[in-house]
Amino acid sequence: MEPELALQQAEQIDRRRKSGAKLGPLAGLPVAVKDVLCSEGELTTCASKMLENFRSPYDSTVVAKLKLADAVLIGRTNMDEFAMGGTTENSALGVTRNPWNTDCIPGGSSGGAAACVAADLVPLSIGTDTGGSIRQPAAFCGVVGMKPTYGRVSRYGLVAFASSLDQVGPVARTVADAALLLEVIAGHDPSDSTSADVDVPPYSQQITEPIEGLRIGVPREYFGEGLDDEVEAAVREALRTYQSLGATVREVSLPHSRYSIATYYIIAPCEASSNLARYDGVHYGYRTNEKQLLADLETERRELAAQGKEREIAELDSPLVRLYRKTRAEGFGPEVKRRIMLGTYALSSGYYDAYYLKALKVRRLIRRDFDEAFSDVDVILGPVTPTAAYRIGEKVDDPLAMYLGDLFTVSANLAGITAISLPCGLSSSGMPLGVQLQAPPFEESRLLRAAHMFQQATDWHERRPDLAAG
Ligand code: GLN
Repeated sequence: MEPELALQQAEQIDRRRKSGAKLGPLAGLPVAVKDVLCSEGELTTCASKMLENFRSPYDSTVVAKLKLADAVLIGRTNMDEFAMGGTTENSALGVTRNPWNTDCIPGGSSGGAAACVAADLVPLSIGTDTGGSIRQPAAFCGVVGMKPTYGRVSRYGLVAFASSLDQVGPVARTVADAALLLEVIAGHDPSDSTSADVDVPPYSQQITEPIEGLRIGVPREYFGEGLDDEVEAAVREALRTYQSLGATVREVSLPHSRYSIATYYIIAPCEASSNLARYDGVHYGYRTNEKQLLADLETERRELAAQGKEREIAELDSPLVRLYRKTRAEGFGPEVKRRIMLGTYALSSGYYDAYYLKALKVRRLIRRDFDEAFSDVDVILGPVTPTAAYRIGEKVDDPLAMYLGDLFTVSANLAGITAISLPCGLSSSGMPLGVQLQAPPFEESRLLRAAHMFQQATDWHERRPDLAAG
């Protein structure tokens, strides 16, 4: 999107390479960044009309770290507006297509990030995951996507959707590439008070050590109603691969996972409604046409005066309130508005205890389920998505069906743990299928090692879509 900038970065790296200078770990590698992370001087639109002309005055910590590692920031990727969605259809910039079948969605909200890696446009990209937005598009596009532990990667300069759930993470073709990218972006950041002061191990070196006697937990609750047969078969095949590598498999239980969708779809919209209050047309971002607004108000006033309706005139909204209303009505898309309404309702007095507070309590129980399960096993294995990628438009009119697609991903965010999605098969119609591994907080190294073992034994991650076929 900013070709001159990318060319400048590349030239500078070439020059330093020639002069024999020490270069960063991503020297010269093109990296695409989801359009939700601030990058100085560049547009950061969040795929929203609200920010269509917003140029960030500073770098997010993740972007700053990529620059320090000598990556070439080649472009910004499409997403669902403000990261709300699972198809990239909610983008004000238009839908992104799945490179495996361009009639299908790439998943979301990091749909662009996954599609550009799948289509071999870049080897690495950065996504964000609030309820599955890295893992789900990675599964739909046949690439690797990882959500780090909450607090592992700085959120400074990440436009907030749901602050207690948002995490930045890598999208790549292989676990080894994802490990390298995570190593660059992870780490404590004083500018983000929720970032954890925990050492970052050299993931890319550690992944080559397989885990002897890996103990895999398979949640009973993950293999029930709604799970597509082909997805289940591919996930069970992945399990057999691990067994052939010496892993032991046992059933575990996550009894509160059945409440995860309900809990997530209270907490995420509540936080979103608060975070999105800042888009008022005054500070920055889109603003409705003020001249038109004042002219309309004057017309209304005159009409009411002609009818002698003095009380109605007194009750008219002030120009400022109208400015807020109209700006937000015009600037946000339908899904964002839906979330703001859901969140505002659940937080309103009289409903706060019944919805928000209750959801926080269930969130605790979901976390406790994981703690208990992890006392017995090293990683938890299951599906990423209930189905493979579906056709563009198929679920646009049915938000609830869309939300149910997040069944297997949202609990990792609610619990704050780390999880990864790996390609593990193809459906009968040739669409990629994914398997998910989850590990306890700050055990990214364990997760990556276990994931790398799988890629050493399989070649699903080497399959590429036939781009000529479209
Ligand atoms: N699909 C989920 C949602 O719509 C997750 C989004 C995300 O992780 N950003 O909220």
